[in-house]
Amino acid sequence: MCLICDRIEMIRNGTNPYFVRELETGYVVIGDNQHFYGYSLFLYKHHGQIRELFELDREEKMKFLKEMSLVAEATSKAFGAEKMNYELLGMGDAHLHWHLYPRRKGDIENYGNNGVGPVWCYPFEKIYSDDNRPSSEELEAMKAKLSAELDKLI
Ligand SMILES: [Zn+2]
Repeated sequence: MCLICDRIEMIRNGTNPYFVRELETGYVVIGDNQHFYGYSLFLYKHHGQIRELFELDREEKMKFLKEMSLVAEATSKAFGAEKMNYELLGMGDAHLHWHLYPRRKGDIENYGNNGVGPVWCYPFEKIYSDDNRPSSEELEAMKAKLSAELDKLI
């Protein structure tokens, strides 16, 4: 089983503390680590054999993209992004899922090109450090903020 399927299974049995909202094509969750405050994900509902966005049939692809865009907009508004970054990777788990990063000036310190660059210019161990995991109170507050913005858009 893949990590994304594990997390979806937890959503379905009510044990995923990061779960925010179910949409038609996927699930909205808050990211485990919050160096990039507001980092959220949109997990496609199905695993199957699909590894690429372009392998979805057209109608499903458009729905998935539209919902992702709404989640990104809600994330941006909820957490005060200066700019959103979007990633659809899948080299680890080949299960379609969007990483949605609210970006702000200075958030990669002086890494990258003098502080300008993608999130992965910032050291992996700093992004995934245990000290930027939200407490359960912080997590509940984040979920409420994101949920309120989603309500306005959906
Ligand atoms: Zn999966």
